[in-house]
Amino acid sequence: MQENLYDVVIVGAATSGAWFGRTMAAKGYKVKIIEKLSEEKLGRRLDIFHVAKREFERFGLPVVGEGDPEWAFSFDETLTSSPHNNYPKVTRDTIVGMHMAEYILLMNKLAIEAGCEIEYSAPFEDFIMEDGVIKGVKYAGGKELYAKVVVDCSGVESVPRRALPEGYGVETFEVTPEDKFYVVLRYVHFLGEKPALNGWPFYKTWIAPCADPDGAIIGIGACHSYDYAEEIYAQFEKDINIPQYELTRIERGTTPYTRPPYSFVGDNFIVSGDAGCLTKPNNGEGVTSSMVQMEIACDVLDECLKKGDTSKEALWKINIEYNKKQGADFASTRAILTKAVNATRDEFELFFEKDIIFNEKFLNNVADGPEIKFSIGDALGIVKGVLGGLVSKRLSVKTLKYLLEGLSLGGKLKKHYLNFPKTPATYNEWAIVASDLWNQVGKMK
Ligand SMILES: Cc1cc2nc3c(=O)[nH]c(=O)nc-3n(C[C@H](O)[C@H](O)[C@H](O)COP(=O)(O)OP(=O)(O)OC[C@H]3O[C@@H](n4cnc5c(N)ncnc54)[C@H](O)[C@@H]3O)c2cc1C
Repeated sequence: MQENLYDVVIVGAATSGAWFGRTMAAKGYKVKIIEKLSEEKLGRRLDIFHVAKREFERFGLPVVGEGDPEWAFSFDETLTSSPHNNYPKVTRDTIVGMHMAEYILLMNKLAIEAGCEIEYSAPFEDFIMEDGVIKGVKYAGGKELYAKVVVDCSGVESVPRRALPEGYGVETFEVTPEDKFYVVLRYVHFLGEKPALNGWPFYKTWIAPCADPDGAIIGIGACHSYDYAEEIYAQFEKDINIPQYELTRIERGTTPYTRPPYSFVGDNFIVSGDAGCLTKPNNGEGVTSSMVQMEIACDVLDECLKKGDTSKEALWKINIEYNKKQGADFASTRAILTKAVNATRDEFELFFEKDIIFNEKFLNNVADGPEIKFSIGDALGIVKGVLGGLVSKRLSVKTLKYLLEGLSLGGKLKKHYLNFPKTPATYNEWAIVASDLWNQVGKMK
């Protein structure tokens, strides 16, 4: 057997690539991951990341606990508050905070134990194409690997996806500054009393724990630029009274905040993780939301490899199943939130007061991923709150229009994604309608 021929070659060995590699190797396939960074530098772009406890079992993730080098802390409850720091809504879910670099190394170790090879300091350079079809990758100064399927798990820059030839079936768009969340994390040590864990959606700011028991991470995630995120943070500090703290350090990073490519598959190609813009629409987190798609992708790929057909048509089921499981709901939530954030500070205050959009049911639902499911009672409550707001002039007609547009577009997008074409034959018509709906949604303010 040719030594450099693999069933699957994956680009990127962070959370997505390591998970994909381990899963396919455990199914008995010959898998190799190529990673741009050295083993020492891998995963060091962030210190802490969070995963909900229930997701460890769901995705077969290694469980870590107090005392393990990967473990940082856990918490069970957070609050979400109005712009004037009122009407706190409670979200209950046990969340585990972990050190990213250590956890990725653990995931790499498990992938290797499952039989997956990993080569570090090995950047992807280009595809090997034969008759217009991907047959492998060139990397690390012209080295070559042949593969039945190449999987792009290279993160937000999505170098392989962007290097696909035009018309290959997966969009090659760049995730531009307008399509990213610029996240600034302030690691702080409180000098007096420590505040409760809280989030303020109006300022896109939150307080989360960190490894220091008297400290916290004050995070802000905004579109456009780090400067814009800092502007909003300055406003937050003016408006919300946070106890005095000492700044220990600042971390910065970006995460995709845009719709995923309509199709994740081409001939012998799959895109996943941040490279596939699979982050949650409410907060930009993407570690486990990507696993929802990867779980489907690994099952479909297994079927395809067994049949010896990894064409776009054969892999297409990944798109359909993903949209049913998560894609349609994420699309709907993204549309609603993009419109809702156009409201003014006082209108946000009213939303919290009257449980319009920002209510506990919504916040607990979006934390879990599914779209906001409104009962008739919920809808009547919203209508009552909105009408009261209009009568008392606390809600403008313009904002009401945004809210109604968001709800309407969210509903249309959900239906459209659930009707994703059964084969690539009618994809173009589907994509035209989807793009029209997304144009109406616009970009996050
Ligand atoms: C500040 C901040 C805080 C966050 N907090 C959370 C959180 O608490 N929970 C959560 O779920 N998500 C969080 N996220 C989002 C989360 O970090 C990402 O969604 C997730 O890490 C994406 O994983 P990935 O493996 O797809 O991509 P990445 O982690 O970006 O990994 C891509 C890998 O590919 C490698 N690579 C890139 N180009 C090449 C190339 N040309 N050749 C070979 N290899 C290449 C990179 O070196 C990297 O190792 C946060 C994001 C930020 C910015």
